[in-house]
Amino acid sequence: MIRSSLPFIFVMMCFYLSAQNKTEISTNKKLVLEAVAKQKEKMIAMSDQIWALAETAFEEKESSKILADYAESQGFTVERGVAEMPTGFVASYGSGKPVIGILGEFDALPGISQKAQSVKQPLEEGAGGHGCGHNLFGVASLSAAVAIKDLIAKGDLKGTIKFYGTPAEEKFFGKLFMARKGLFNDLDVCLDWHPSAETKADVQSSLALVDFIVEFNGQAAHASADPWNGRSAVDALELYTTGINYLREHIKPTVRIHYHIQHGGDVVNVVPDYSKIWVRVRDTKREGMEEVWKRVEKMAEGAAIMADVDYKISLVSGLHEILVNRTGGEAMQKNLEYLGDITYTEKELEFAHGIQEATGKPKKGMDATINPLEETKEHPGGGSTDVGDVSWLVPVIRLGVTTAPIDTPWHSWAVVACGGMSIGHKGMIQASKALSMTMVDLYENEKLVQAVKTEFLERKGDYQYKAILPDGPPPIPVGSN
Ligand SMILES: [Zn+2]
Repeated sequence: MIRSSLPFIFVMMCFYLSAQNKTEISTNKKLVLEAVAKQKEKMIAMSDQIWALAETAFEEKESSKILADYAESQGFTVERGVAEMPTGFVASYGSGKPVIGILGEFDALPGISQKAQSVKQPLEEGAGGHGCGHNLFGVASLSAAVAIKDLIAKGDLKGTIKFYGTPAEEKFFGKLFMARKGLFNDLDVCLDWHPSAETKADVQSSLALVDFIVEFNGQAAHASADPWNGRSAVDALELYTTGINYLREHIKPTVRIHYHIQHGGDVVNVVPDYSKIWVRVRDTKREGMEEVWKRVEKMAEGAAIMADVDYKISLVSGLHEILVNRTGGEAMQKNLEYLGDITYTEKELEFAHGIQEATGKPKKGMDATINPLEETKEHPGGGSTDVGDVSWLVPVIRLGVTTAPIDTPWHSWAVVACGGMSIGHKGMIQASKALSMTMVDLYENEKLVQAVKTEFLERKGDYQYKAILPDGPPPIPVGSN
């Protein structure tokens, strides 16, 4: 008797707990959920527009304008062209403390144009595509900021909300230039999300990286008639990459080194006098990255000596790893749990299966379940983001939301396809809800803001942030002003 009634009691308890959970949110949280729901059509329209434009790094003129104009129409004060970036902007509303920031990206990737369908076919041959879902990213964050603004306007919440339109995340790391200008310095807490194949409060770090260019300059000569008069810049380049590849045996497993040969001579009968290589070093911690960075730079000198040529190293930029904030992550997690799983229609699941079939993945469909908050890994895998730099200046609370099927190859046509249809839209709206609810937590609960800040200070220690950037303005392509 006892055994058979246990499952029943368990089910009733779960029902009671989830029913209780559903009724436990504050009035302000209910209001932001309504405010996001009210913006749904506008959100879809904006994200679809940005999706179709698919403008790449620092070329996002129309995409940036769509978001900045919307912010302005909602009563935000918008400062455009911040940090010498024509497509960067900051939209602010309200006054006083707390000052909560939220990040929004909107740049696309080159060459992966795709229609919103599960069969690979470009929308426009050779054009860009939103293979990282940034069309959803910017819109969800801005709509969450608008929901908060509504409450500040009515006097239900006190403080300031700032939306950051952050360009060129995929190539030039726009947030670095904003960070260097001190644009995040007045924030108490910042929020951020990213489209993903899973939904979770993100408490994992990212990889620190550095990008630099090495150029070798030698002496041209006839490759057959008088090669002894030549000093080959490509010899130096080959010796350099050989050195890098020997080094791989002696670096920690967390380190990654990539390179891209950008110039390796022009013709076979000339001893090449010029070569150029773009090198990237990553590690899970900035200190580890810096150690390998120094060694890899030094090797350029060695290669130049061997080939008897000159060399030049130019720093492009570097990224910090994410400084995790678990206190903020826990607040985000509770809101995600309240919102529950995203549900999909048969048609959407069919779309997901189509994408999985086309990319050679098992037909596992979608995963939008809310799992318990993860342990933070000491050495995470994955990529890098310029959000990392923001996270050393101000605590950043992060979120990932499902906008693509399980195992979808990222930065690919498949992500572009999902970002232009309802699977992407649903994730965008879910993200906007979770972000705005978590912001309500921060405005309503000063102790939470303090706890988030305390954790930030403990993790940061006495490190004084400095952007890894050469002096001078951002590399805006000619004609982009
Ligand atoms: Zn991205």
